[in-house]
Parts: sequence; structure tokens; C-alpha cells
Amino acid sequence: MIDAVEVWSVPMRTRFRGIDVRDGVLVRGPAGWGEFSPFWDYDVAESRRWWAGAVEAACHGWPAPVRDTVPVNVTVPAVDATRAHAIVAASGCRTAKVKVAEPGQTPADDLARVEAVRDALGPDGAVRVDANAAWDVDTAVARLRELDRVGLEYAEQPCASLAELAALRRRVDVRIAADEVVRRAADPLRVDLREACDVVVLKVQPLGGVRAALEVAQAHGLPCVVSSALESSVGIAAGVALAAALPELPFACGLATVALLDGDVTGDPLLPVDGALPVRAVTPDRLAAVAAGPDVEARWRARLAAVRG
Ligand SMILES: [Mg+2]
Repeated sequence: MIDAVEVWSVPMRTRFRGIDVRDGVLVRGPAGWGEFSPFWDYDVAESRRWWAGAVEAACHGWPAPVRDTVPVNVTVPAVDATRAHAIVAASGCRTAKVKVAEPGQTPADDLARVEAVRDALGPDGAVRVDANAAWDVDTAVARLRELDRVGLEYAEQPCASLAELAALRRRVDVRIAADEVVRRAADPLRVDLREACDVVVLKVQPLGGVRAALEVAQAHGLPCVVSSALESSVGIAAGVALAAALPELPFACGLATVALLDGDVTGDPLLPVDGALPVRAVTPDRLAAVAAGPDVEARWRARLAAVRG
């Protein structure tokens, strides 16, 4: 049913998640466009869920939305405090997610960044941090107590394992959000999140599509936040569809990440207006402008063949 496969590649504005370039595949089917863009550190087996998300978007479409806009956070990479302040001030968002524990940086760098973000948002804004599983429990306790001086909404995946998250959660007052332990689990439906977290982060591609992610939300019965996997606007539209279909959406979602890319597959990107994204389809009308070079194109076609094979 898929009648078009397009490979895209754009530079990141700032190095993020250890990458400087974001690339992936868009596929077209009877329901529209879908995105397949597992990061390069995902193997073939893990990437199959990402492919299921693309097939759902292109061939089946998504469940009906229960809201027509989705509040989003601005995402602040591990930049210096001045730049962090400017990113938040320019965003129009009332919630900020701040990357912390970047390799090569110090706790003082994190604190300065988080304080600058609080200053830019004012006392009514919400500040959350994401450590991407970098800390052991004792380090997380010390770091979160210090960072919570600005008042944290939650801390996303401060430690790697479920046991560590549960141990940490007993020792700090900050809410804990689970991300990697859910999306990289062999079975995200059966991860035992009791004791380990207060919030679940849902990502469409790693969980195998909007419907699969809705099942994960239902299985855990915890408040959910939808975040992106740094997709183009086509992939972001799937995240928006998930956020729009969740029965409850108590927190802003991490879907304003097109701003981290220096270019997009569409001339009408899914960027926030007044801190929210609209629920709408995206047509990739800039594919020629962001087409990958021949080497990257060949890598993606080989990867796609392996995942579909
Ligand atoms: Mg995360």
C-alpha cells in the first residue's frame, strides 16, 4: 500500500542527544504520510516498532482526537545559561524541559541553565529536567535537591533502571517521569512502574504507533506526557495525534522539537503558537530541499529493507 519512500536529512541547530544531523524516511500510503526515523543506535529488532508507527500513519490513520490543540514545552538543549534564557523567552511556551547531565559539563552548568530558564519563565512557568539516565541514585539525589531550588515539575529518567528510579523516588520530593525504561523495554505494556515513577513519557515511534502508545497509557494508569523522537513535522503530527487522543493530558507535551532542526520537510512546520500545537495533518512539500545525499539515502534504504524483511 506504500507508494512513496523519501529519505530526508537536516542539520541540528545545536548538538542534541549526541547527534548533529537528523535523518529518516517518509512513506506515503492511503491514509497520508508516515515517518520512520529510528536513531542509528537502534538495531533492526528495536526499529521494527518504529516502522509499525510509520505504517499506521501511512496506511491506517489515527484515532479521533478529543482536543484540537496540545500544550507543549520548549526543549532546552545543554547550552549555556544566556542561550537557554533566549530560547525560552522566544518560545512562547509556559513549560520548559531542560537537558542536564550532558557529558563534559559540570553540575554548575546545569544549575546555571536551570536558573536561567526559571528566570525566563517567571514563577508561574513549569521547569522539568531530563538527565537521560545519566546518574546513579546518590548523584541524582544530590543533583535534584540542588536543581529543585528553582522548583521542578518533574525529573525525567534521572537514573537508568527501574530499581534505581524507585530508590530515588523514596529519597526526593521531585516527581519522577519514566522514559527510556518504558520505550526501550522488551514489552512496554508489562514494565512494572509501580514505585518507580509518577509520570510516563510516551513516544509514538519507539512504542509502535499511536494505538500501541494509547495501550501503554491505559496499562499503567499514570499521567502521561507525549514527547517526540526529534522527528520532522510529519512524525511530530503523529505525536500530536497521540496527545490529542489521550483521555487526560495534565502536562505540556515535548512536541515542540522541530525548532531544534535547521530545516523541515514542510514549509508549514508544526511549531508552537502561544505554547500549543494544532491537531492537523502535515504535507511534506519541501522533500527536494531536504533530500539526503546518496550515501545516507542508501543507508536508509538498506535499513528499511532489513526492518521490513
Ligand atoms: Mg527523555
